[in-house]
Amino acid sequence: MLRVAVFGATGRMGSTVCSAVTGDADLELVAAVDPHHAGLDLRPVTGVDADLRILPAAEALDPADVDVVVDFTATAAARENLRWCAEQGVHAVVGTTGLTGEDLDELRRTFTTSNCLVAPNFAIGAVMMMRLAELAAPWFTSVEVIELHHEAKVDAPSGTSLLLVQRLAEASGEWDPDPTTSEVAPGARGAEGPGAIRIHSVRLRGMVAHHEVVFGTTGQSLTIRHDSYDRSSFMPGVLLAVKSIPDRPGLTVGLDALLDL
Ligand code: NAP
Repeated sequence: MLRVAVFGATGRMGSTVCSAVTGDADLELVAAVDPHHAGLDLRPVTGVDADLRILPAAEALDPADVDVVVDFTATAAARENLRWCAEQGVHAVVGTTGLTGEDLDELRRTFTTSNCLVAPNFAIGAVMMMRLAELAAPWFTSVEVIELHHEAKVDAPSGTSLLLVQRLAEASGEWDPDPTTSEVAPGARGAEGPGAIRIHSVRLRGMVAHHEVVFGTTGQSLTIRHDSYDRSSFMPGVLLAVKSIPDRPGLTVGLDALLDL
């Protein structure tokens, strides 16, 4: 039985993870960390069926009592939490987005006695979207990415769109140059990601997490789209990561490695 602590336990993702962990016979939810609800009982705050008092910070945990930390917080908080996990030799599964290449380098350096998996998207369909987009990339001359999220998402563009664009840039270096010579409204062409590929971020009430990659070439286009309609879409991937992380030394980025794609 793996003992799991969830950081960001009262958040949208964290509370869904707490429920998923308590519903899995191979896992035990041993701690819930969330500073602004510290001291309260988890059950009335989140509806999660576990008799736990919410802790204020990683430091309130005894590392000997935890096998895996799952972090769905915010970028700056995740950096601190992961430092603690690496120092204490606790495995980490990270869904928090906004971590940079330098952050990943630091995780590679610091996770020496325990393991860490960072995945910007735990939905199996989103992982498939990225793989299919990589296969299509060499056959098209232009590509743009549109990501749509709920109205409360604070970072932009999404971690998934950044990873997607990184992989598109690695799959093909032969994209048409941007024809724009006059951007009448600043930002109209979106953000420029790796390989000068454009990313457009949409924030709308009612959305959860949606990604669209649109390829073009002479006389045709191809659109590959993935939609997460509900946060439950991420849970099979999160649970798979939690169960796999003890056997994956060092840093793993993305869920692909666990799906044998
Ligand atoms: P959210 O509802 O704002 O939840 C974040 C929670 O973390 C909040 O309850 C927040 O508390 C808490 N928190 C802040 N600092 C903390 C700390 N130091 N220790 C523990 N908890 C802390 O956000 P969300 O929608 O759940 O998203 C969380 C993250 O997951 C975001 O980065 C989002 O982009 C990402 N995400 C990833 C995936 C994926 O598949 N990888 C899917 C969806 C979302 P306060 O609100 O009181 O500050």
